[in-house]
Amino acid sequence: MRAVQYSGVQDVSLAEIDRPQLEPGHALLRVVAAGVCQTDIHMRASSEPMVPAGTVLGHEICGQIVELADDVRSNALGDQVVVHPVWSCGRCRQCIAGRDNACVNTGGRMFPAPTPGVSINGGMAEFVAVPAAALIPAAGLDPAFAAILTDAGLVPYHSINAARDLLRPGASAVVIGIGGLGQMAIEILRTLTGVQIVALDIKDAALNAVRDKVDHAFRSNLAGVRADVLSATGEYGADFVLDLVGNSETLALAAAVVSPYGAIRAPGLSDGVFEFETSQLATSLPWGASITRPYSGTRQDLTDLVALAQAGRISANVTRYRFDDALQAFDDLDAGKINGRAVIVMD
Ligand SMILES: [Zn+2]
Ligand SMILES: [Zn+2]
Repeated sequence: MRAVQYSGVQDVSLAEIDRPQLEPGHALLRVVAAGVCQTDIHMRASSEPMVPAGTVLGHEICGQIVELADDVRSNALGDQVVVHPVWSCGRCRQCIAGRDNACVNTGGRMFPAPTPGVSINGGMAEFVAVPAAALIPAAGLDPAFAAILTDAGLVPYHSINAARDLLRPGASAVVIGIGGLGQMAIEILRTLTGVQIVALDIKDAALNAVRDKVDHAFRSNLAGVRADVLSATGEYGADFVLDLVGNSETLALAAAVVSPYGAIRAPGLSDGVFEFETSQLATSLPWGASITRPYSGTRQDLTDLVALAQAGRISANVTRYRFDDALQAFDDLDAGKINGRAVIVMD
């Protein structure tokens, strides 16, 4: 079968490989659509090997079930499904508590559970084998849209849903980085909450894509952006700041605009550093504010998000590529040419 394969440092190419074997507990999917993420670009560009050579990329997967292991009773052949990208055990204390994105058994203290296309073979291929426990039915959805729910949608949904107590009407939310995830974050905030939304990005084109869906949109690399956000939030700051970039500049910006007891959530992977201060005169964070780096999202989060999509409550900008043009999708995303998300659609 055809696949987009990581073959070694800075080497991602189209390859012809064997179809995956079906193990107990697994399903074989015919891939219908697979999203392309900044993480894929990051893995291709890195001078350190980030995944084993030979790994098939693709962690945003929508497919159709074409084969089930004998012991799988939970799914039916032909169903359209999406793949929860955190392959947890379902039995440990964290999984039972609903924190399956922090599974004790399949992950570790500093590394997460297996993720297709990141630590094991993923979905930029004609077929992918996945644990049946990771499948979530996604009937009726456009496959390209369904695929991106599993990462571009799930990451912001997880952070927003976990901060619902802060996101009451009258509160403010700032979203930094209006790419594929940022656009989804704004959709989710609009449909789930009544908060004031502030969008920040370095590019006008990114802000223009969401201007009619937010209360304020500011260029994050212009002097005065901190004052603008504070002014928009009554000088008190934002209750919730979702930093989808995660470099040192955006972390500093997030800290400069978060409110007392507000939450900064920084799932981005841009090697940012934030200095935590505890002095009485500390200026880096207001009292009570928190900053964490959440990982992906839970199975419950993705189930909720698929339901929101099926109800027609969220939408996304998707740029489609044929499988033969998959590497063009990488290049276009890398060059900043994608508004929203690039998705490889199998032909
Ligand atoms: Zn991703
Ligand atoms: Zn577990």
